[in-house]
Amino acid sequence: MISILCPCYNEEAVLDLFFEKISEVTAKIPEEFEFVCVNDGSKDNTLEVLKNHAEKDSRIKIIDLSRNFGKEAALTAAIDYCKGDAAIPIDVDLQDPPELISKMIEKWREGYEVILARRTDRSSDSYLKRTTAKMFYRLHNLISNPEIPENVGDFRLIDRKVINALKELKESHRFMKGLFAWAGFKTFTLDYKRNARSSGTSKFNGWKLWNLAIEGITSFSTAPLTLWLYLGGAIAFSAFAYGFWIFIRTIIFGIELPGYASLVCLILLFGGLQLLGVGILGEYLGRTYIESKQRPVYIIREIYESES
Ligand code: UDP
Ligand code: MG
Repeated sequence: MISILCPCYNEEAVLDLFFEKISEVTAKIPEEFEFVCVNDGSKDNTLEVLKNHAEKDSRIKIIDLSRNFGKEAALTAAIDYCKGDAAIPIDVDLQDPPELISKMIEKWREGYEVILARRTDRSSDSYLKRTTAKMFYRLHNLISNPEIPENVGDFRLIDRKVINALKELKESHRFMKGLFAWAGFKTFTLDYKRNARSSGTSKFNGWKLWNLAIEGITSFSTAPLTLWLYLGGAIAFSAFAYGFWIFIRTIIFGIELPGYASLVCLILLFGGLQLLGVGILGEYLGRTYIESKQRPVYIIREIYESES
């Protein structure tokens, strides 16, 4: 059996079309399917729409979360709960083409454990989103290990072995792309063209994406912390060298009154650098603090599942 994992947040407008498209695709595939839909604290009628579909189709299971926990948490809930031999997380806005599922399953039967879907054409995303995404992948892969493959979203097929491995990762800050990459396994990559959202609006604004990027970097790299060691070292060394130079100069040429402006500049520069360093420390400390509470990643209000 294959589990299709659908995180839904305010998606009432697209769900009908989504189920129509995905049933068309799955009807042609011999494997059995289940649809694990996570209602991530939607404020519209997403839950009612899901329930209507579940009445008609017993393969649809609904996990209703107590509030909006974010896509990463919703996906975690679906991964924890799904029972398939493989799982495919997919966005319900049809930006991830369901037609790719049959190809993924083909490759899975060939023995691959992870089948990635790479977006070759992101022209449906704005220029700003594309360039910032590119910058993020560059920076992340420069300082983090393992690298996350560029332009690969959460849309992928993962084998049961991978699902079980992911369940072992208990951290409460969950950057799914990074966790997927961290787990490893035998991987195959398929290419596809990213469609525009079929209807409704994107649930990710610039600020949410910025936070996701920080999440990704701080979850998988401590390079921003180590940076201060070298930066501090370099500054201390130059200060020492400069001090030595002033000392020699004073002995040879006597005392003079140096510039006032340069002094102010230096004070501001180092004040800023120190605050930046403390800020980065704080970022990691805050994460350690949250992690140490060991709160669950999500809270389930109710699970709707037909008895069969
Ligand atoms: N989503 C979610 N919780 C959130 C935000 C998004 O479950 O807090 C789901 C959303 O319903 C969709 C998927 O994550 O199925 C991707 O969201 P969206 O299409 O808005 O992101 P984009 O494609 O613009 O990156
Ligand atoms: Mg989308």
